[in-house]
Amino acid sequence: MLPDIKSLHHDELQAQFESWTLPAYRLEQLLNWLYVQRVTSWDAMTNLPKALRERLRQHFTLTTLELVRKQGARDTTEKFLWRLSDGALIESVLLPANPALYGDASDRHTLCVSTQVGCAYGCKFCASGIDGWKRNLGVEEIVEQVLAVERVPSSGFRVPSCTTVSVPEPGTQNPELGTRNPNPEPRLINNLVIMGMGEPLANYDTLMKALRTLNAPWGGGIGARKITISTSGLAPQIRRLADEPLQFRLALSLHGATDAVRNKIMPVNRKYPLAELIAACEHYQRRKDRMITFEYILIAGVNDDVEETRPLAALARRLNAKINLIPYNTVQGLPWQRPSEAIQEKFLAALEAQGVTATLRREKGHDIDAACGQLRLRTERELAAT
Ligand code: SAH
Ligand code: SF4
Repeated sequence: MLPDIKSLHHDELQAQFESWTLPAYRLEQLLNWLYVQRVTSWDAMTNLPKALRERLRQHFTLTTLELVRKQGARDTTEKFLWRLSDGALIESVLLPANPALYGDASDRHTLCVSTQVGCAYGCKFCASGIDGWKRNLGVEEIVEQVLAVERVPSSGFRVPSCTTVSVPEPGTQNPELGTRNPNPEPRLINNLVIMGMGEPLANYDTLMKALRTLNAPWGGGIGARKITISTSGLAPQIRRLADEPLQFRLALSLHGATDAVRNKIMPVNRKYPLAELIAACEHYQRRKDRMITFEYILIAGVNDDVEETRPLAALARRLNAKINLIPYNTVQGLPWQRPSEAIQEKFLAALEAQGVTATLRREKGHDIDAACGQLRLRTERELAAT
């Protein structure tokens, strides 16, 4: 199996190009084709000599994602279902950064990215875990979600035309250019949330490598502080994350502030109970000095009793965490429901009365299966039925 070109970092490619005794600008040209032009074939890299394109083809794959289905429209939530080279399906969700309240198009967006096919953690409320875990995504499959969304014309972004890109020609390389992106077009996507299908911290090394590419000036150029990793609570990996040099944000899918509630809906809590999880978060916070966000889905009759706000507010105060309340998105085949708006507001008010910062998400995209794993699940079911 050949490695994929987008699974490699600048230094690894540089070593390869040096071993082929190629001048440095050839690598800059290649990176420009991959991360600025976002081309999908070697032949499109027209300023690379044919022999080099052939050599690259012999040494690397150039993975792209095939769009199977898209829901939603520009300036609302858009959901993309992709087919991977082995036929597996994953999804990414594009959310406008600023809802276009007065008809103005919002030009910057957040992309919700998947990290695995399926999920092994089996949270009872979640569509991603229903059919279990199939495999981890590769570095290139994580990176490609960003590039592929930016390629889709209706996502409101025009890939700059080849003629406008200033790729240095032989002998004209500006030494100051270094490895910086030679055409810093504003990207469509300037925020990432690693909250799609899968448990990101269970695919740790691959995720870190992909995020370094998406963050690097020669790659995606997305600020580390604009990248949020969400976890269901893998305590040892949270400690590892604390040692990473990049300043990613951390969101903890709490959904219950006691072991009793978490054990009922999140099997991971039996492995890493709250005491252990919160200690890992405290360690992360001491090392990173970063605010943690608690994600708390409100599920009717499960975790929405106003009494639950007491332990939740206590945890939030202890970690100086902000709480994101998310009304549950119903999943076909699962019995759970979202509570009424009155109950949601009451829960929010009770938290605020206890002096913690909380927001209630009036869900974007409820109507298009925006919660993780739902579009894939539905498509898999439809395919199985035909
Ligand atoms: N595995 C990671 C990241 C992916 S899930 C995690 O669990 O954090 C991303 C978020 O979507 C999590 O907070 C998850 O609990 C939430 N989620 C899953 N199913 C949902 C649903 N049906 N409605 C609302 N949120 C849901
Ligand atoms: Fe996996 Fe996260 Fe879904 Fe739990 S909520 S099953 S960890 S994707």
